[in-house]
Amino acid sequence: MSDQISETLQKKIADRLGFYEDLGIRTFYRDRGTPVASVAQQQLETVGVLIHSNVFPSEERTLPKTARKPEVPKPAPTIGQPAPRVSPLPLPVSTAPSLFESIEKVADDTLLKIREDLGDCMRCKLHSTRNKIVFGDGNPKAELVFVGEGPGADEDAQGLPFVGRAGKLLTQMIEAMGLQRKDVYICNVVKCRPPENRQPEEDEVHTCSPFLLRQIDTIAPKVVVCLGATAAKTLLQTNRGISQFRGEWLEFRGRKLLATYHPAYLLRNPPAKSEVWKDLQKVMAVLGLEVKKGKSA
Ligand code: SF4
Repeated sequence: MSDQISETLQKKIADRLGFYEDLGIRTFYRDRGTPVASVAQQQLETVGVLIHSNVFPSEERTLPKTARKPEVPKPAPTIGQPAPRVSPLPLPVSTAPSLFESIEKVADDTLLKIREDLGDCMRCKLHSTRNKIVFGDGNPKAELVFVGEGPGADEDAQGLPFVGRAGKLLTQMIEAMGLQRKDVYICNVVKCRPPENRQPEEDEVHTCSPFLLRQIDTIAPKVVVCLGATAAKTLLQTNRGISQFRGEWLEFRGRKLLATYHPAYLLRNPPAKSEVWKDLQKVMAVLGLEVKKGKSA
């Protein structure tokens, strides 16, 4: 058995371990009879864990064949399987009728039509400082939609949502769920960058959010995850702080909605990652994705 693994793989394993550690997951296990490349094992033991191959599916695929676990058939992590257990939906955050509840779905709408309708939008003052409109990105038939607040500098430059540091973290979160970015849809409440990354103002949210609503209606996901207070407050039409309903199942136009912290907040407050991971595990259960749990060696 070769003891050598590439530096790239070592770095990927170290990065992934750091990510899981930030999520509060510090204990993994492996089958004791399973050989693991010794370099990788040394790395893992330096952070006090043993590896369980399920936690590192992509890295494991790149290990030498002799270092792999025997193939154990298991269901692929696909969206759409019936959820094993679904918690009952609690009451909505606000009993006041949502602004959006009264807006009817546009017949035969498509993301392309919505983008065409948006055009070179100048409907609110954010148009004057933007570089690129950040419409949204991902699977037009996604069962999971993430909604953030608005584009930042990287997104404004590239025209794509969540591509900066916070976006990298969101990608890690999605991958930790057993998905890829292309499996989900990612968009924002406002599609142009607010100057200096300030919060979007009420009139800007009011003007832009109908396009978001059409996107969600058209994609028709099973679950909408609001990333941060602006997205949650906009869709739920509430002034309550996100900490009061974070991680609770709510309802939005007949769909399940869950609000969690924005990745940018997690960059400033890494301990909150474990709370977000618990929230994402609830989403995984509803989508029928395998919930991976650490287990003592
Ligand atoms: S934020 Fe929305 S409404 Fe305002 S200019 Fe950009 S696309 Fe138009």
